Amino acid sequence: MNYCGRFAPSPSGPLHFGSLIAAMGSYLDAKKNHGNWLIRIEDIDPPREVAGAADKIIDTLDRFGFEWDEPVLYQSTRYTAYQDALHELQKEKLLYQCICSRSDIQAHGLQGVEGAKYPGTCRKRGFDNSTYAPQRSALRIVTGDQPISFVDGLRGTICQNIAQDIGDFILKRADGLFAYQLAVVIDDAYQGITDVVRGADLLTSTPRQIYLQ
Ligand code: GLU
Repeated sequence: MNYCGRFAPSPSGPLHFGSLIAAMGSYLDAKKNHGNWLIRIEDIDPPREVAGAADKIIDTLDRFGFEWDEPVLYQSTRYTAYQDALHELQKEKLLYQCICSRSDIQAHGLQGVEGAKYPGTCRKRGFDNSTYAPQRSALRIVTGDQPISFVDGLRGTICQNIAQDIGDFILKRADGLFAYQLAVVIDDAYQGITDVVRGADLLTSTPRQIYLQ
C-alpha cells in the first residue's frame, strides 16, 4: 500500500508551535516514504472552534511551504458517514445510551490512564429506541477485555487494555456532537491513511482507534 500521511488539526485557534512540529514530522515522514500527505480540518466541535482559525491554519501551512496532495477535507462535511458507522455498531449491539454525568463517573473513583475510568454503569441499558433521548444521552461503545498493542516509531511497543484502562468510551456526546475517536477513524479509513505522525498527547488514544478500526 502506498504511504499516505496526514495532518489533522482542530480549528480551536491558530497553529501553535507544537502543532507545527507535528505537521512537519508527518510531512517529512510522508516525503521520505515517497507518499502522499493530506490535511484534514477536524471541525466537529463548534463550541471549541474559533471563527477563521481553519483558514489561518491552512494559510500558515502554505506560508511555511507545505504542499498537500488532495483538497482539504473538512469533518463538518462528513456527518452522514459518522452516523452510518453508528448505525452499523448499533446493529452489532455494540452501542448503548449513557446518562451518567462527569460527577457520577468520578464518584465511582475508578482510575484509568486518562483520569476517571467509566465504570460501565449504563451498559445494561442497551440501546432502546423508544426511550432514546438524544439531547440527554451519550452513546458509548462496549469495549473488549483484551490487550491491544501497536508499535510506535518513537516509543516502541505500546499495549493497552481498553476495558481496564479507559472503559467503554463515547462515540456520540450527550450534546449530539460526534466524538473525535469515531470521526478520526472513519476519516483515516476514508482518506486511505496508512501512517499517523502526531502529538504524543494522543498516544493513549491510538488503542481505541485501533479497536474501532
Ligand atoms: N484534531 C486533533 C488535534 O488537533 C488531532 C487528530 C489526530 O492527529 O489524530 O488534537
